[in-house]
Amino acid sequence: MNQLIRCKNCDDIFMKTPFDQFPEYEWEPDRAQEDFRSLPRDDFRDFLTHHQGHHLENLKIIEDSFVSEKTYSEPLKTSFFKATNGKEIFVIKKFREKIDEPLKYQVISGDFSLKCASIEIQWEEISKQLKREIKPLLSQTQLDAFLKLYRHLFKNIDIQDLERVPEDSPHPLEIYYKISDVHLAYLLRNCRNIFKGQEYLAIEEFIHRHKDDGVLLLKATYQIQLTEIAKKKKKPVPASVPLEKEKLIKKR
Ligand SMILES: [Zn+2]
Repeated sequence: MNQLIRCKNCDDIFMKTPFDQFPEYEWEPDRAQEDFRSLPRDDFRDFLTHHQGHHLENLKIIEDSFVSEKTYSEPLKTSFFKATNGKEIFVIKKFREKIDEPLKYQVISGDFSLKCASIEIQWEEISKQLKREIKPLLSQTQLDAFLKLYRHLFKNIDIQDLERVPEDSPHPLEIYYKISDVHLAYLLRNCRNIFKGQEYLAIEEFIHRHKDDGVLLLKATYQIQLTEIAKKKKKPVPASVPLEKEKLIKKR
């Protein structure tokens, strides 16, 4: 189980994981391949030594608060999440500067939010799929007209008017949205001007097949917006000195 620990005095964060005490293996090129030197390591003990006598507290990670700028598998990336001690909420930056370094955690003063930067239609995928599914092939003029109409429909769309698709996207900042029934009706009505008879029926079926989870989904790209607030002067947290001892020190 991972445990998130904060030093109240220094505002330092430590993520205690089962890997903290894994030995590190050092390979020396002049030795035989099997001959690794195992270096004992205890990151948590190092943290405790560094913050000896300070006030430490456990933080609980706030579920669903994670945002990340790159795909989940990318090792070098910055993510943000929120955690709480029950009274205050902390915004935590998680990052790694070099591939061989451990992850770092840092409390930042401020907040983050996701801002929709663009909404696009998947025109390349739509075009490929139309060519694959609709036989006889549509003319290039018809293809272009359909894409133009579809793009026009969502030119000034507000993200609030769209319904998010529940599936996870492979990229954390790309989210897919379904078109609304109003847009659907408008799209079908306008398709009647581009396609006639059998072609219209084929396009109508295509639209129904792809509107909920296919190429007709709209792709919204988000950006992480950070609002940093100048750090408040922190009240000094007294070091954990037993009361009697503290009195003794004052008396001198
Ligand atoms: Zn400390």
